[in-house]
Amino acid sequence: MRSSREIIEKTEKYGAHNYHPKEVVFETASGARVTDPEGRQYFDMLSAYSALNFGHLHPEIVEAVKKQLDLVSLTSRAFHNDLLCDFYEALCNLTGREKVLPMNTGAEAVETALKTARRWGNFVKGVEDGKQEIIVCNNNFHGRTITVISMSSDPSCRRGFGPFTPGFINIDYGNIEQLKAAITPNTVAFLMEPIQGEAGIIVPPAGFMKEASEICKANNVLLIADEVQTGFARTGRMFASEWEGVEPDIYVLGKALGGGIMPVSAIACNADIMDVYEPGSHGSTFGGNPLACAVSITAMEILVRDNYPKMAEEKGNYFMAKLREIKNPDIKEIRGKGLLIGVEFHVTAEKYVKALIANGVLAKETHEKTIRFAPPITISYEEIDEAMEGIRKALGK
Ligand SMILES: *Cc1c(COP(=O)(O)O)cnc(C)c1O
Repeated sequence: MRSSREIIEKTEKYGAHNYHPKEVVFETASGARVTDPEGRQYFDMLSAYSALNFGHLHPEIVEAVKKQLDLVSLTSRAFHNDLLCDFYEALCNLTGREKVLPMNTGAEAVETALKTARRWGNFVKGVEDGKQEIIVCNNNFHGRTITVISMSSDPSCRRGFGPFTPGFINIDYGNIEQLKAAITPNTVAFLMEPIQGEAGIIVPPAGFMKEASEICKANNVLLIADEVQTGFARTGRMFASEWEGVEPDIYVLGKALGGGIMPVSAIACNADIMDVYEPGSHGSTFGGNPLACAVSITAMEILVRDNYPKMAEEKGNYFMAKLREIKNPDIKEIRGKGLLIGVEFHVTAEKYVKALIANGVLAKETHEKTIRFAPPITISYEEIDEAMEGIRKALGK
């Protein structure tokens, strides 16, 4: 049997060093629990950045995969498959939008939303092609493709990767005055995360998204909500936009949409927007494949049937209250919604992350000073209590 050390060394030897993983190897996992090759057990408090809302290997989703693997896994979009229509319907029902366009990764869904907004701007709003402008927020995270990093304000994401895609205007997240000032006759969309995940669980001022949506409406500008991380119950609502009573023009979805098993992403919007596409204008080889549909349909059924939003809200409140009991002057703020929780420190969080891992709790710092706690929504109260023992040892003073 190979040790964690051997596996890590081989990984480092042959792989690009575009990640700097913590020195824990997942060998098996189930629900919120992970085991490494040495048999050490951990709680997964990162959940693959919310892709694992259903926990590791949810039995019903695994069953759906196994069943589908006896039928058909991949067609091509040159032909129909018998599950894509059900995937569309389920996602339309969840989002309250009329149409869906499937892709695979979050970044592709973001790209799709940008293309949709630009075309809508040209075809419907009448902005001259090539002049479309999209307003985005500082400290955003929308993925890693060239166009997506063209919106980034983080130098480490951009250094050496130019030239960038033009047409983006950055404003400060949560700043309504800057949003108003940035809108021109060529503005086609405003793209935002309802809560900024990678930036460190940044919750905008109450009312910001609501006001932003009204400003967008008044100026014939599309509101695009990137709910790749916040969607599918993570924050205690099906979509985090609901906290503000906002119905975005375009939902960007990914991560948990794949049930923790497949990369599945999509945008959802109404027909007057989605109808800018004609055959040949956009697509993806794997987007909407039957295996992905089987996974995603099952995941969406479970979300609704088991009321994941309520679970995330109640467990989040419980977990957050326990975290707030920790006495440590290094802790600056504990914030978030549902089971998307950030603990910000006055100091760099690295030593605390080390201590958490040593005590059986897998978490990682984001932007140096904030640790994200985002366990699977399926985590039990007993498991939260058990994880809290390790968290208290690691973070308490
Ligand atoms: C993770 C993430 C993405 C990108 O998703 P990938 O599947 O990694 O391409 C986009 N937007 C947000 C808000 C994310 O958290």
